[in-house]
Amino acid sequence: MIDAGMDVARINLSQTSLEEALARYERIRAAGLAAKRPLGILADLPGPKIRLGAFEHEVRVESTQMIRLAPGDGPSTEACFTVNYPTLLTDLRVGDRVTLGDGSILFELTEVHDDSFSAQVIFGGLLQGRPGLHIPSDRLMLSSPTAEDLRLVDAFVDIGVDMIALSFVRSAHDIRRVGLEPAPRGPLVVAKIETRSAIENLDGIVSASGAVMVARGDLGSECSIEDLPHLQKEIIGRCIALGRPAITATQMLESMITSPSPTRAEASDVANAVFDGTSAVMLSAETAIGTDPVRVVATMARIASRADQEFDHEGWAPTIQRDRLQEPLSVDAAITDVMTMATWRAASDIGVKAIVCISRSGFTVRAIARFRPNTQILGFSPDERTVRQLTMSWGATPVLIDRIDDMESTLQRAVRQARDAGLLRTGDLVAVLAGSSAASGMTDTLRVLRCP
Ligand code: PEP
Repeated sequence: MIDAGMDVARINLSQTSLEEALARYERIRAAGLAAKRPLGILADLPGPKIRLGAFEHEVRVESTQMIRLAPGDGPSTEACFTVNYPTLLTDLRVGDRVTLGDGSILFELTEVHDDSFSAQVIFGGLLQGRPGLHIPSDRLMLSSPTAEDLRLVDAFVDIGVDMIALSFVRSAHDIRRVGLEPAPRGPLVVAKIETRSAIENLDGIVSASGAVMVARGDLGSECSIEDLPHLQKEIIGRCIALGRPAITATQMLESMITSPSPTRAEASDVANAVFDGTSAVMLSAETAIGTDPVRVVATMARIASRADQEFDHEGWAPTIQRDRLQEPLSVDAAITDVMTMATWRAASDIGVKAIVCISRSGFTVRAIARFRPNTQILGFSPDERTVRQLTMSWGATPVLIDRIDDMESTLQRAVRQARDAGLLRTGDLVAVLAGSSAASGMTDTLRVLRCP
């Protein structure tokens, strides 16, 4: 999958035990090192995700069939689906409609008993593994991060994970409660937008997070399905304006779980996410349980890079400016905007061969990547975790540099290193972009020079 184009591997912690997840982490790290190219690892916290107990084998439920739903941690059977939500019987009511999987199976609660609900299947389908059960987030009596999430955060921070995704975020406060140090000292926090409250508090969440995921599975159950494409555009637009990578997730190439090629609609969905400005496109079940994960990754990589060729680079930057102008900016943010905008102009007007960014935390790389310049972005950082985090930034080639000392000698070393690696040639025009102070959070230096 790495050879086929995977830049970041997500470990979905709601599907595995901690021990299994840590073992997977080590295997992914080893594979990344063997491939000799930076590979980000994203640990995705379960949050208050409600799931059915595991099915030992596939179970098909038919429309109009009656099923039983009971709180508990045991396995699910055809006769009774267990749900890992102790207050199920008090938080839900007869008449509620509940979905399973990413909305594909729907049933209605018809009767409450001492230990379970009876429910009638409205739309049936196939159940396997541990399907998620969607309860509207305003009914959910649990908040994110849960105590279990915080235990998982400790385990993954200890082993140096690159990014941590927080599920069912409702406000910026949820992100602060994870208690992580800002990058590069801590992993990048990815806020998964999948509740109504998150949409209402979007600006605060985007500002408080390192990156954002449009988690279309649960978001599509929380909002009207016809609103989903527009919410996707809105969320991506806000993230990119603020220099936060945006991930578009779920059902992107769903039919490839079993089929060798995607539907035409899926191919268009991936390309359209690129046109919306997404920084990353994500696969879930396609690679987790699909028949040919490598083929899915390769297909997605081909569709995304073809869409990149068609991307309107010239028309994109003014939209960033317009989105940014809606809000009052701090002086540091305004300086970063002016410098990155000038760099984008240098790329489009004088045809620089590369934008060389020098950055400890990756801030400068993300600040220029949002403009989608029509040239390569080389993101140099002395921090290995930052290098791996930059795998999620659009168009960036992350490069490890041994150190950052005074700006003049660092930029000369970076340009020479890029030349020696074959990324630049002697005589190429290069824009170098950096923050002059060790504290990240502002990009204030632009130099245009010829590669020696
Ligand atoms: C989603 O809901 O779209 C999502 C990405 O979350 P998860 O896969 O963890 O359910």
